[in-house]
Amino acid sequence: MSSPQKDGQDLSSELFSRAVELIPGGVNSPVRAFRGVGGTPRFIKSAKGATMTDVDGRTYIDYVGSWGPMILGHADEEVLAALHEALGRGTSYGAPTELEIEIAEEIIEAVPSIEMVRMVNSGTEATMSAIRLARGVTNRNKLVKFEGCYHGHGDSLLVKAGSGVATLGLPDSPGVTASVAQNTITVPFNDANALELAFNEHGADIAAVIIEPVVGNMGCVLPQEGFLQKVREIVTKHNALLIFDEVMTGFRLARGGAQGLFGVRPDITTLGKIIGGGLPVGAYGASREIMRHIAPAGNIYQAGTLSGNPLAMTAGLVTLKRLREPAIYEQLERAGNRLCDGLRAAARDAGIETITNRVGSMWTTFFTNEPVTDWTSAAKSNREVYGKFFHAMLNEGVYLAPSQFEAGFISHAHTDELLDKTVEAAHTAFRIIKSNS
Ligand SMILES: *Cc1c(COP(=O)(O)O)cnc(C)c1O
Repeated sequence: MSSPQKDGQDLSSELFSRAVELIPGGVNSPVRAFRGVGGTPRFIKSAKGATMTDVDGRTYIDYVGSWGPMILGHADEEVLAALHEALGRGTSYGAPTELEIEIAEEIIEAVPSIEMVRMVNSGTEATMSAIRLARGVTNRNKLVKFEGCYHGHGDSLLVKAGSGVATLGLPDSPGVTASVAQNTITVPFNDANALELAFNEHGADIAAVIIEPVVGNMGCVLPQEGFLQKVREIVTKHNALLIFDEVMTGFRLARGGAQGLFGVRPDITTLGKIIGGGLPVGAYGASREIMRHIAPAGNIYQAGTLSGNPLAMTAGLVTLKRLREPAIYEQLERAGNRLCDGLRAAARDAGIETITNRVGSMWTTFFTNEPVTDWTSAAKSNREVYGKFFHAMLNEGVYLAPSQFEAGFISHAHTDELLDKTVEAAHTAFRIIKSNS
């Protein structure tokens, strides 16, 4: 895919050439490399509020938000002040702290299904641990996931569907053994019948169903009316456990996450991103009955040298306390509406077919003319046009996710002025795309 930018002239390109010699693909997480849109990634020097500035001094309105955590905006004053204070007390002890109790209280109070919680260091660690817990508690082996949902890079989760309904998994990545992949069954999102079929076939050995209750990782895709309720019913009927992976949606869509918003209670919840306030954190929680199986209370092992790290707990706690304020979620809803209405109108004016999905401050514009409800419909989006849109927006000073299949995030720091500027940029970007097509 070609980029409208001339690469190789600026400091970002220089740094990228250095990085690719030292780091696989030049990045420490794949999507950052711009492979989905072409061109070379911008290297970032600093960020403040709703904007990021690259090493060449260009400032962008940021809709990646570090892929979700920065709901208060970058370098929030209160988070920074708390971190500065915490730094002076040391950065890690490997012994319990009162901060860990406080963040546990904050999470348990907010998330309806969580009575006990364990902190880990990433979303990946949270989902891997949650699955081990589900298998340990049920004494079953198989796992059901939905096609297009991402739950971190754990072996049993790096599996997507083959064709057909309830296909037994094939590994999605070399290095994942067939024996691990065999235990993962994949069904289409928003398809309760396919889930029912999977249970009919393998029910006695299905430990858990894991789902992003609102998907962010194939772009933003909403559960259809009643779908999550139906999933809950089916899983309960077969005595399996339901895992809501709320690493992205937790504290994002509402203080109680997607489960609070939709009123469906999972058995186990995974969290990450926002609960670390921009530092590396994950967590998983459930009822006391389930969580008491985790070591050292129980015999399912899970541990972490830096888990509950005082800096991460400090940033997370300040963030979660701020999110007690319902006005923040009301503002995010208004902002999401303003931005997405604007984007839809801009596309319409330019005569470009798009579908913009949104829940609260999570959104994606797809380049297709039919509703996007699962992986099959998401995959119909024209990725080449998305690449053009991405680069045109970047030129206009708007930093979108460098992939069609990622959600955009609005923060509390995105003012109406910045949102309107973004819509104006989109008018220009869509016109450019139209005139070049
Ligand atoms: C980001 C994400 C993960 C993985 O979290 P990491 O911190 O990147 O390991 C897992 N599940 C969902 C839904 C996510 O959005």
